[in-house]
Amino acid sequence: MATPKLDTRPPDDPASDHRQAPPRNEAGSDDALEPAANATRLGQAGALGTMGIEAQPHAMTEPILVADDDTITRRILAKTLTKLGHDVVEVGNGKSAWELLAGDTRPRLAVLDWMMPGIDGPEICRRLRKLRDEPYTYVILLTGRTEKADLVEGMTAGADDYLTKPFDENELAVRLRAGLRLLELQSELVAAREQMRTQATHDPLTGILNRGAILDVLQSELNRGRRWNDPVAVVLADLDHFKLVNDEFGHLAGDETLREASRRMRAVLRDYDSLGRYGGEEFLVVLAGCWPQIARRIAERIRTVVAARPISTTAGSIHVTSSLGVAVCDWEQPVDVQSLVNAADLALYRAKERGRNRVVIAGYEDFTQVGNAS
Ligand SMILES: [Mg+2]
Repeated sequence: MATPKLDTRPPDDPASDHRQAPPRNEAGSDDALEPAANATRLGQAGALGTMGIEAQPHAMTEPILVADDDTITRRILAKTLTKLGHDVVEVGNGKSAWELLAGDTRPRLAVLDWMMPGIDGPEICRRLRKLRDEPYTYVILLTGRTEKADLVEGMTAGADDYLTKPFDENELAVRLRAGLRLLELQSELVAAREQMRTQATHDPLTGILNRGAILDVLQSELNRGRRWNDPVAVVLADLDHFKLVNDEFGHLAGDETLREASRRMRAVLRDYDSLGRYGGEEFLVVLAGCWPQIARRIAERIRTVVAARPISTTAGSIHVTSSLGVAVCDWEQPVDVQSLVNAADLALYRAKERGRNRVVIAGYEDFTQVGNAS
Protein backbone atom coordinates (compact mmCIF):
# COMPACT_ATOMS: atom_id res chain seq x y z
CA MET A 1 0.00 0.00 0.00
CA ALA A 2 1.37 3.37 -0.95
CA THR A 3 2.15 5.84 1.78
CA PRO A 4 0.44 9.17 1.22
CA LYS A 5 2.85 12.06 1.07
CA LEU A 6 0.67 14.89 2.15
CA ASP A 7 1.80 17.85 4.14
CA THR A 8 -1.14 18.08 6.48
CA ARG A 9 -0.54 19.49 9.89
CA PRO A 10 -3.41 18.89 12.16
CA PRO A 11 -1.92 16.26 14.44
CA ASP A 12 -4.30 17.53 17.06
CA ASP A 13 -7.17 16.25 14.99
CA PRO A 14 -7.22 12.48 15.41
CA ALA A 15 -9.69 11.92 12.61
CA SER A 16 -7.28 13.33 10.09
CA ASP A 17 -4.51 10.97 11.18
CA HIS A 18 -3.44 9.01 8.15
CA ARG A 19 -3.52 5.75 10.06
CA GLN A 20 -7.22 6.21 10.62
CA ALA A 21 -8.01 7.05 7.05
CA PRO A 22 -9.54 4.37 4.84
CA PRO A 23 -7.06 2.42 2.73
CA ARG A 24 -6.15 3.91 -0.58
CA ASN A 25 -7.91 2.43 -3.52
CA GLU A 26 -5.00 1.54 -5.78
CA ALA A 27 -7.03 0.31 -8.68
CA GLY A 28 -9.30 3.32 -8.63
CA SER A 29 -12.14 0.84 -8.73
CA ASP A 30 -14.66 3.37 -7.46
CA ASP A 31 -14.66 4.59 -11.04
CA ALA A 32 -17.38 2.04 -11.65
CA LEU A 33 -19.69 3.60 -9.09
CA GLU A 34 -22.44 5.96 -10.08
CA PRO A 35 -21.93 9.57 -8.90
CA ALA A 36 -24.87 9.40 -6.55
CA ALA A 37 -23.41 6.40 -4.77
CA ASN A 38 -19.91 7.72 -5.08
CA ALA A 39 -20.57 11.23 -3.83
CA THR A 40 -20.35 11.81 -0.12
CA ARG A 41 -21.79 15.02 1.15
CA LEU A 42 -20.24 16.26 4.33
CA GLY A 43 -22.08 18.53 6.69
CA GLN A 44 -21.02 21.93 7.87
CA ALA A 45 -17.99 22.08 10.09
CA GLY A 46 -18.49 21.99 13.81
CA ALA A 47 -15.48 23.54 15.49
CA LEU A 48 -13.54 25.97 13.38
CA GLY A 49 -10.09 27.34 13.74
CA THR A 50 -8.37 24.24 15.06
CA MET A 51 -6.05 24.41 12.09
CA GLY A 52 -5.13 28.02 12.55
CA ILE A 53 -7.07 29.04 9.44
CA GLU A 54 -10.19 31.12 9.48
CA ALA A 55 -13.57 30.23 8.11
CA GLN A 56 -14.26 31.77 4.73
CA PRO A 57 -16.37 34.91 4.87
CA HIS A 58 -18.29 34.17 1.70
CA ALA A 59 -21.48 32.26 2.00
CA MET A 60 -21.99 29.88 -0.90
CA THR A 61 -25.00 27.62 -0.85
CA GLU A 62 -23.63 25.14 -3.37
CA PRO A 63 -21.22 22.52 -2.06
CA ILE A 64 -17.62 22.48 -3.22
CA LEU A 65 -16.70 19.53 -5.40
CA VAL A 66 -13.58 17.60 -4.49
CA ALA A 67 -12.50 15.10 -7.11
CA ASP A 68 -9.44 12.94 -6.51
CA ASP A 69 -8.86 9.25 -7.04
CA ASP A 70 -6.54 9.20 -4.06
CA THR A 71 -8.78 8.54 -1.09
CA ILE A 72 -6.40 10.04 1.47
CA THR A 73 -5.91 13.30 -0.41
CA ARG A 74 -9.64 13.52 -1.02
CA ARG A 75 -10.54 12.98 2.63
CA ILE A 76 -8.04 15.56 3.82
CA LEU A 77 -9.20 18.09 1.26
CA ALA A 78 -12.82 17.51 2.22
CA LYS A 79 -12.01 17.77 5.89
CA THR A 80 -10.12 21.02 5.40
CA LEU A 81 -12.93 22.54 3.34
CA THR A 82 -15.51 21.43 5.89
CA LYS A 83 -13.50 23.10 8.63
CA LEU A 84 -13.55 26.26 6.54
CA GLY A 85 -17.32 26.12 6.71
CA HIS A 86 -18.21 24.63 3.33
CA ASP A 87 -20.39 21.75 2.30
CA VAL A 88 -18.38 19.27 0.27
CA VAL A 89 -19.22 16.68 -2.35
CA GLU A 90 -16.52 14.06 -2.89
CA VAL A 91 -16.00 11.91 -5.94
CA GLY A 92 -13.20 9.51 -6.77
CA ASN A 93 -12.95 9.79 -10.54
CA GLY A 94 -13.20 12.18 -13.43
CA LYS A 95 -16.38 10.71 -14.87
CA SER A 96 -18.37 11.32 -11.70
CA ALA A 97 -16.87 14.81 -11.40
CA TRP A 98 -17.91 15.65 -14.93
CA GLU A 99 -21.45 14.32 -14.41
CA LEU A 100 -21.86 16.59 -11.42
CA LEU A 101 -20.34 19.62 -13.14
CA ALA A 102 -22.47 19.16 -16.24
CA GLY A 103 -25.64 18.66 -14.18
CA ASP A 104 -28.31 21.14 -13.25
CA THR A 105 -27.35 21.61 -9.63
CA ARG A 106 -23.67 21.77 -10.25
CA PRO A 107 -21.10 22.97 -7.76
CA ARG A 108 -19.73 26.41 -8.48
CA LEU A 109 -16.31 25.67 -7.14
CA ALA A 110 -14.33 22.51 -7.81
CA VAL A 111 -10.99 21.20 -6.65
CA LEU A 112 -9.96 18.68 -9.29
CA ASP A 113 -7.06 16.30 -9.28
CA TRP A 114 -4.99 16.47 -12.44
CA MET A 115 -4.49 12.73 -12.87
CA MET A 116 -7.68 10.74 -12.47
CA PRO A 117 -9.07 7.59 -14.03
CA GLY A 118 -11.67 8.25 -16.69
CA ILE A 119 -11.40 11.96 -17.41
CA ASP A 120 -8.44 13.93 -16.12
CA GLY A 121 -8.59 17.39 -14.54
CA PRO A 122 -7.51 19.46 -17.57
CA GLU A 123 -10.00 17.62 -19.79
CA ILE A 124 -12.82 18.41 -17.36
CA CYS A 125 -11.74 22.07 -17.52
CA ARG A 126 -11.81 22.05 -21.29
CA ARG A 127 -15.30 20.50 -21.38
CA LEU A 128 -16.54 22.89 -18.72
CA ARG A 129 -15.38 25.97 -20.59
CA LYS A 130 -16.89 24.72 -23.82
CA LEU A 131 -20.21 24.00 -22.12
CA ARG A 132 -21.23 27.44 -20.84
CA ASP A 133 -19.96 30.30 -18.79
CA GLU A 134 -22.89 31.01 -16.49
CA PRO A 135 -23.01 30.50 -13.68
CA TYR A 136 -19.26 30.31 -13.71
CA THR A 137 -17.54 27.28 -12.22
CA TYR A 138 -14.25 28.13 -10.55
CA VAL A 139 -11.71 25.35 -10.86
CA ILE A 140 -8.61 24.74 -8.77
CA LEU A 141 -6.43 22.02 -10.29
CA LEU A 142 -4.60 19.82 -7.87
CA THR A 143 -1.34 18.54 -9.25
CA GLY A 144 1.78 16.72 -8.25
CA ARG A 145 3.54 18.17 -11.24
CA THR A 146 5.52 21.32 -10.84
CA GLU A 147 6.89 21.85 -14.32
CA LYS A 148 5.91 25.16 -15.80
CA ALA A 149 4.81 23.61 -19.06
CA ASP A 150 2.27 21.47 -17.23
CA LEU A 151 0.85 24.43 -15.37
CA VAL A 152 0.48 26.31 -18.63
CA GLU A 153 -1.41 23.34 -20.03
CA GLY A 154 -3.73 23.23 -17.02
CA MET A 155 -4.45 26.94 -17.08
CA THR A 156 -4.90 26.94 -20.84
CA ALA A 157 -7.41 24.13 -20.43
CA GLY A 158 -9.50 26.53 -18.36
CA ALA A 159 -8.40 26.07 -14.75
CA ASP A 160 -8.53 29.24 -12.67
CA ASP A 161 -5.86 28.31 -10.18
CA TYR A 162 -3.75 25.39 -9.13
CA LEU A 163 -2.45 23.81 -6.00
CA THR A 164 0.56 21.53 -5.92
CA LYS A 165 0.63 18.36 -3.88
CA PRO A 166 1.43 18.00 -1.09
CA PHE A 167 -0.84 20.93 -0.45
CA ASP A 168 -0.64 23.38 2.38
CA GLU A 169 -3.93 24.09 4.13
CA ASN A 170 -3.28 27.79 4.51
CA GLU A 171 -2.52 28.04 0.83
CA LEU A 172 -5.74 26.20 0.02
CA ALA A 173 -7.67 28.61 2.24
CA VAL A 174 -6.14 31.63 0.53
CA ARG A 175 -6.76 30.31 -2.97
CA LEU A 176 -10.28 29.34 -2.05
CA ARG A 177 -10.90 32.83 -0.79
CA ALA A 178 -9.76 34.29 -4.12
CA GLY A 179 -12.08 31.91 -5.96
CA LEU A 180 -15.06 32.70 -3.78
CA ARG A 181 -14.45 36.41 -4.19
CA LEU A 182 -14.47 36.02 -7.96
CA LEU A 183 -17.68 33.96 -7.85
CA GLU A 184 -19.30 36.57 -5.67
CA LEU A 185 -18.33 39.35 -8.07
CA GLN A 186 -19.66 37.32 -10.96
CA SER A 187 -22.99 36.78 -9.18
CA GLU A 188 -23.26 40.51 -8.54
CA LEU A 189 -22.51 41.27 -12.18
CA VAL A 190 -25.09 38.79 -13.44
CA ALA A 191 -27.68 40.15 -11.00
CA ALA A 192 -26.95 43.73 -12.05
CA ARG A 193 -27.19 42.81 -15.71
CA GLU A 194 -30.47 40.96 -15.19
CA GLN A 195 -31.83 43.94 -13.31
CA MET A 196 -30.82 46.26 -16.14
CA ARG A 197 -32.38 43.93 -18.67
CA THR A 198 -35.62 43.90 -16.68
CA GLN A 199 -35.55 47.67 -16.34
CA ALA A 200 -35.01 48.02 -20.06
CA THR A 201 -37.96 45.83 -20.99
CA HIS A 202 -40.46 46.26 -18.17
CA ASP A 203 -42.75 49.02 -17.03
CA PRO A 204 -41.65 49.99 -13.53
CA LEU A 205 -45.17 50.75 -12.30
CA THR A 206 -47.01 47.62 -13.37
CA GLY A 207 -44.14 45.20 -13.85
CA ILE A 208 -45.49 44.14 -17.25
CA LEU A 209 -43.60 44.68 -20.53
CA ASN A 210 -43.05 48.27 -21.62
CA ARG A 211 -44.00 49.69 -24.99
CA GLY A 212 -40.73 48.83 -26.73
CA ALA A 213 -40.73 45.28 -25.42
CA ILE A 214 -44.36 44.46 -26.29
CA LEU A 215 -43.81 45.82 -29.81
CA ASP A 216 -40.74 43.57 -30.08
CA VAL A 217 -42.89 40.62 -29.04
CA LEU A 218 -45.45 41.56 -31.69
CA GLN A 219 -42.73 41.83 -34.31
CA SER A 220 -41.39 38.36 -33.59
CA GLU A 221 -44.91 36.89 -33.46
CA LEU A 222 -45.61 38.42 -36.87
CA ASN A 223 -42.36 36.98 -38.22
CA ARG A 224 -43.29 33.57 -36.87
CA GLY A 225 -46.90 33.82 -38.02
CA ARG A 226 -45.85 34.74 -41.54
CA ARG A 227 -43.65 31.65 -41.77
CA TRP A 228 -46.42 29.29 -40.67
CA ASN A 229 -49.38 31.25 -41.97
CA ASP A 230 -50.58 31.52 -38.37
CA PRO A 231 -52.90 34.35 -37.37
CA VAL A 232 -51.69 36.99 -34.92
CA ALA A 233 -54.11 39.14 -32.94
CA VAL A 234 -53.61 42.27 -30.90
CA VAL A 235 -55.91 43.83 -28.34
CA LEU A 236 -55.54 47.47 -27.44
CA ALA A 237 -57.26 48.13 -24.12
CA ASP A 238 -57.82 51.56 -22.66
CA LEU A 239 -59.21 52.29 -19.20
CA ASP A 240 -62.29 54.49 -19.56
CA HIS A 241 -62.28 58.03 -18.15
CA PHE A 242 -58.97 57.43 -16.49
CA LYS A 243 -58.21 61.14 -16.31
CA LEU A 244 -61.15 61.45 -13.92
CA VAL A 245 -59.62 58.79 -11.66
CA ASN A 246 -56.41 60.79 -11.41
CA ASP A 247 -58.28 64.06 -10.90
CA GLU A 248 -60.69 62.71 -8.31
CA PHE A 249 -58.53 60.26 -6.35
CA GLY A 250 -55.00 61.51 -7.03
CA HIS A 251 -52.14 60.03 -9.01
CA LEU A 252 -51.19 57.55 -6.32
CA ALA A 253 -54.61 55.93 -6.48
CA GLY A 254 -54.38 56.18 -10.27
CA ASP A 255 -51.15 54.19 -10.15
CA GLU A 256 -52.72 51.59 -7.88
CA THR A 257 -55.61 51.29 -10.32
CA LEU A 258 -53.24 50.74 -13.25
CA ARG A 259 -51.34 48.10 -11.29
CA GLU A 260 -54.48 46.19 -10.33
CA ALA A 261 -56.02 46.48 -13.80
CA SER A 262 -52.87 45.07 -15.40
CA ARG A 263 -52.76 42.29 -12.80
CA ARG A 264 -56.36 41.34 -13.63
CA MET A 265 -55.66 41.38 -17.35
CA ARG A 266 -52.61 39.18 -16.91
CA ALA A 267 -54.67 36.72 -14.89
CA VAL A 268 -57.14 36.02 -17.71
CA LEU A 269 -54.52 35.62 -20.44
CA ARG A 270 -53.06 32.36 -21.62
CA ASP A 271 -49.45 31.55 -20.72
CA TYR A 272 -48.23 32.27 -24.22
CA ASP A 273 -49.99 35.63 -24.57
CA SER A 274 -48.06 38.82 -23.85
CA LEU A 275 -49.21 41.94 -22.08
CA GLY A 276 -47.51 45.31 -22.20
CA ARG A 277 -48.17 48.87 -21.13
CA TYR A 278 -48.56 50.74 -24.39
CA GLY A 279 -49.11 54.21 -23.02
CA GLY A 280 -50.49 55.91 -19.89
CA GLU A 281 -53.64 53.85 -19.35
CA GLU A 282 -53.36 51.88 -22.57
CA PHE A 283 -52.42 48.21 -22.67
CA LEU A 284 -51.41 46.11 -25.64
CA VAL A 285 -52.01 42.37 -25.68
CA VAL A 286 -50.37 40.11 -28.26
CA LEU A 287 -52.27 36.87 -28.90
CA ALA A 288 -50.28 34.37 -30.90
CA GLY A 289 -52.04 31.92 -33.24
CA CYS A 290 -55.39 33.48 -32.46
CA TRP A 291 -58.39 33.62 -34.81
CA PRO A 292 -60.92 36.49 -34.52
CA GLN A 293 -63.52 34.54 -32.49
CA ILE A 294 -60.93 33.56 -29.87
CA ALA A 295 -59.42 37.05 -29.86
CA ARG A 296 -62.85 38.53 -29.23
CA ARG A 297 -63.49 36.06 -26.41
CA ILE A 298 -60.19 36.94 -24.73
CA ALA A 299 -60.88 40.66 -25.15
CA GLU A 300 -64.31 40.15 -23.56
CA ARG A 301 -62.66 38.33 -20.70
CA ILE A 302 -60.33 41.28 -20.15
CA ARG A 303 -63.22 43.73 -20.27
CA THR A 304 -65.21 41.66 -17.79
CA VAL A 305 -62.43 41.14 -15.28
CA VAL A 306 -61.45 44.81 -15.21
CA ALA A 307 -65.02 45.90 -14.49
CA ALA A 308 -65.93 42.89 -12.31
CA ARG A 309 -65.48 44.63 -8.97
CA PRO A 310 -64.18 47.96 -7.77
CA ILE A 311 -60.42 48.33 -7.32
CA SER A 312 -59.54 49.15 -3.75
CA THR A 313 -56.92 51.85 -3.42
CA THR A 314 -55.58 53.90 -0.52
CA ALA A 315 -57.89 56.71 -1.66
CA GLY A 316 -60.93 54.48 -1.75
CA SER A 317 -62.72 52.04 -3.98
CA ILE A 318 -62.56 52.85 -7.68
CA HIS A 319 -64.74 51.30 -10.34
CA VAL A 320 -63.18 51.30 -13.78
CA THR A 321 -64.22 49.91 -17.13
CA SER A 322 -62.25 49.48 -20.31
CA SER A 323 -62.73 49.82 -24.05
CA LEU A 324 -60.96 47.40 -26.33
CA GLY A 325 -60.04 47.31 -29.99
CA VAL A 326 -59.08 44.00 -31.55
CA ALA A 327 -57.21 43.51 -34.82
CA VAL A 328 -56.34 40.14 -36.31
CA CYS A 329 -53.77 39.51 -38.99
CA ASP A 330 -54.81 36.40 -40.96
CA TRP A 331 -52.32 36.95 -43.82
CA GLU A 332 -55.10 37.65 -46.36
CA GLN A 333 -53.15 40.85 -46.75
CA PRO A 334 -49.67 41.60 -45.46
CA VAL A 335 -49.45 43.68 -42.31
CA ASP A 336 -46.65 45.06 -40.21
CA VAL A 337 -46.54 45.95 -36.54
CA GLN A 338 -47.66 49.51 -37.07
CA SER A 339 -50.62 48.74 -39.36
CA LEU A 340 -51.88 46.06 -36.99
CA VAL A 341 -51.69 48.33 -33.94
CA ASN A 342 -53.26 51.17 -35.95
CA ALA A 343 -56.17 48.94 -36.91
CA ALA A 344 -56.70 47.98 -33.25
CA ASP A 345 -56.51 51.67 -32.35
CA LEU A 346 -59.24 52.54 -34.87
CA ALA A 347 -61.43 49.77 -33.44
CA LEU A 348 -60.73 51.06 -29.93
CA TYR A 349 -61.78 54.51 -31.04
CA ARG A 350 -65.10 53.12 -32.22
CA ALA A 351 -65.57 51.29 -28.92
CA LYS A 352 -65.19 54.64 -27.14
CA GLU A 353 -67.60 56.30 -29.55
CA ARG A 354 -70.22 53.63 -29.01
CA GLY A 355 -70.31 54.20 -25.29
CA ARG A 356 -67.16 52.56 -23.85
CA ASN A 357 -66.89 49.36 -21.79
CA ARG A 358 -67.05 47.26 -24.94
CA VAL A 359 -65.04 45.30 -27.48
CA VAL A 360 -64.85 46.22 -31.17
CA ILE A 361 -63.13 44.13 -33.84
CA ALA A 362 -61.28 45.95 -36.62
CA GLY A 363 -62.51 45.40 -40.17
CA TYR A 364 -60.44 45.19 -43.33
CA GLU A 365 -61.04 48.88 -43.96
CA ASP A 366 -59.11 49.64 -40.76
CA PHE A 367 -55.88 48.22 -42.16
CA THR A 368 -53.53 50.46 -44.06
CA GLN A 369 -51.83 48.71 -46.94
CA VAL A 370 -48.28 47.95 -45.98
CA GLY A 371 -46.01 49.92 -48.22
CA ASN A 372 -48.68 52.56 -48.90
CA ALA A 373 -48.76 53.74 -45.32
CA SER A 374 -47.50 57.27 -44.96
MG1 LIG B 1 -4.78 11.32 -9.08
